Amino acid sequence: MIYLDHNATTPVAAEVINEMCAVLERAWANPSSTHGPGQAARRVLADARARVAQALGCHPAEPVFTSGATEANHIALLGALDPRRGEAAKGRPRLVLSAVEHPSSLALAERLRAAGHAVDLIPVDGEGRLDMNAARALIGPDVALVSVMGANNETGVCMPLEELAELAHARGALLHVDATQLVGKSSLRFADSGADLWSVSAHKFNGPKGVGALLVRKGLDWPGLQAGRQERGRRGGTENLPGIVGFAAAAERMHRCLAADLAGMAALRQRLESGVLHIAAAHRAVRLYGAAGPRLPNTTLVRFGQLLAERVLHALERADIIAASGAACSAGGNQPSHVLLAMGESPQHALCGVRFSLGRDTTADEIDAALDALRQHVLPLLQAQSSEAERLAAVH
Ligand code: PMP
Repeated sequence: MIYLDHNATTPVAAEVINEMCAVLERAWANPSSTHGPGQAARRVLADARARVAQALGCHPAEPVFTSGATEANHIALLGALDPRRGEAAKGRPRLVLSAVEHPSSLALAERLRAAGHAVDLIPVDGEGRLDMNAARALIGPDVALVSVMGANNETGVCMPLEELAELAHARGALLHVDATQLVGKSSLRFADSGADLWSVSAHKFNGPKGVGALLVRKGLDWPGLQAGRQERGRRGGTENLPGIVGFAAAAERMHRCLAADLAGMAALRQRLESGVLHIAAAHRAVRLYGAAGPRLPNTTLVRFGQLLAERVLHALERADIIAASGAACSAGGNQPSHVLLAMGESPQHALCGVRFSLGRDTTADEIDAALDALRQHVLPLLQAQSSEAERLAAVH
């Protein structure tokens, strides 16, 4: 199998598995217990926190460990409107998100709006780039939080975080970045991002699923959702120590290998995209999305004429190539991609985005095999569709 769906999730690194197994076997005590084994588990937790901080570029007091980025996004958005923030939240009832956020943020924003909260969405252009003029118009003095993804999971297009941080802060608002797709695919670190809050998820960079963090800038008093004493009162519940140690091991490995991984993925993505364009040279309807904007080095979203993503993916999977339609989270639902719709694509075309997302272990041979499969199995579908279209045009 050739796996080209790393934006959905990544394989767990061997060193991560080893460290997690060791914790499961040896550090299974409750870190809140005051006895010896509990205190030993507590030290393992503190060590993991320090490793995460070192790898992500934050202070050890800043990560609040969560069950992943979905929960981190919830703590960020709901915290912004929480009356427990007192003066800081007064007179700021509004949230501003981008229109292409992950469903974990957008669905929550939709719920908040239905409950009577004020939520605005910043549009993007045809290349998936944030409309900064609209952002300037929408981010007023009544905004509590601006929430945008560091990079989009479907297109890989990166958001102008520095500009947004400046704009949000000038209006007295905070900036939350859903950095889920950034970590491991960008050298940006929390401390340099200008953001006040960052969501992270370990399974996107060879860590385990079900663990992540919300990084909360030091000095910011952020109300949590789950009551309890853990995580300095910001997230109650016995800590997922094996998961957190797996997160730390994955973050450390990610940080150590990042420069080489970024260069490797960028070169292979280039090989993939020039191959796709070459194969489909006769078919001008092939479109690469987001190529004009700054993008993650591993992501390609492409439309093959009017071919539904589902057809392309089935054809590829028969040749053992695993890719995805725009969003794994809406897969199976056959919904047009909300990202492509926001980029101005028709509902029909928004069903046609095929995403290849490379990983640190992807090889040139794998890319060549994917290109072969496209040539053998997808090109004939595209040719059949073109001749069908020509026939119809001749009849009309
Ligand atoms: N935000 C983005 C941008 C994502 O890509 C994902 C995962 N698809 C999430 C949030 C949700 O992360 P998790 O699986 O850790 O809840």
